[in-house]
Amino acid sequence: SDQPTILFHDGNSIPQVGLGVWQTPNDTAVTAVKAALDAGYRHIDTAAIYENEAGVGEGIRASGIARSEIFLTTKLWNSDQGYDATLKAFDASLKRLGTDYVDLYLIHWPAPKRDQYVDSWKAFIQLQKEGRARSIGVSNFYPEHLQRLIDETGITPVINQIELHPDFPQKEARAYHDKHRIVTQSWSPLGQGTLLENPVVAKVAAKHGRTPAQAITRWHIDNGLVVIPKSVTPSRIVENFKVFDFKLDDEDMATFASLEKDGKRIGPDPMTATF
Ligand code: NAD
Repeated sequence: SDQPTILFHDGNSIPQVGLGVWQTPNDTAVTAVKAALDAGYRHIDTAAIYENEAGVGEGIRASGIARSEIFLTTKLWNSDQGYDATLKAFDASLKRLGTDYVDLYLIHWPAPKRDQYVDSWKAFIQLQKEGRARSIGVSNFYPEHLQRLIDETGITPVINQIELHPDFPQKEARAYHDKHRIVTQSWSPLGQGTLLENPVVAKVAAKHGRTPAQAITRWHIDNGLVVIPKSVTPSRIVENFKVFDFKLDDEDMATFASLEKDGKRIGPDPMTATF
């Protein structure tokens, strides 16, 4: 297919748009994943803590699309951090997904108070050597956490999945990532829906004859970000993927930039999160 992909420093590539399945129960995950794959998506983002890996696996099999055509991500939960616990949690994820590898395994949060992310990362390096995690990365890491992985293991994550939307563009993190060839992936790319009624977004969407969700998804693409909008509604899943036949221009980017002044996190700050 002609959807854009982003190259990792390990030589693998990730489709730039994927389906997020947070807060999606197993039965709904089956139909959402199948709807996405039918619509042309080839990238699904789940996590052990979402408790829907079984549904995601079932949706993939129900699609009839070869596993090798699909980019599948899951994540290690905080309470499973540590070298041995990580290996065990990974096996359990594969079992629930019903697959013998994932395309991308992420440390879900740095959980700095636990101070186990370096040991977890060493297990990730082992899993990649075994070919069972094709690529390895992290989520919610600050530059100082990334730097510690690099300094203590010599292996740089291929990606960091962080909260990022037009009113919270994470410029400092992105500058660090770019310097280290780490791809930036946006979670809650639509601001969990909060940006969809925004007049600034509506202005850009109207100019291109698109919906607000499409304009925002395109903003991520045109910023070189990997983006995983979530929906369980088939018509919206289709809508969010119809974004490869238009492009934002400098004027649109400037319009979007006016949102930055009221920007703030929706989710927890990874430095102080207590889970
Ligand atoms: P999002 O920004 O993708 O917003 C999703 C919500 O927007 C939907 O629930 C729906 O209400 C609305 N929506 C989506 N498409 C729409 C459309 N076309 N028209 C109207 N409304 C629409 O929010 P999210 O789910 O928080 O983030 C996306 C994904 O990011 C998650 O599903 C998950 O995979 C990932 N994520 C990761 C972390 C992490 O810690 N790594 C944290 C949060 C989310």
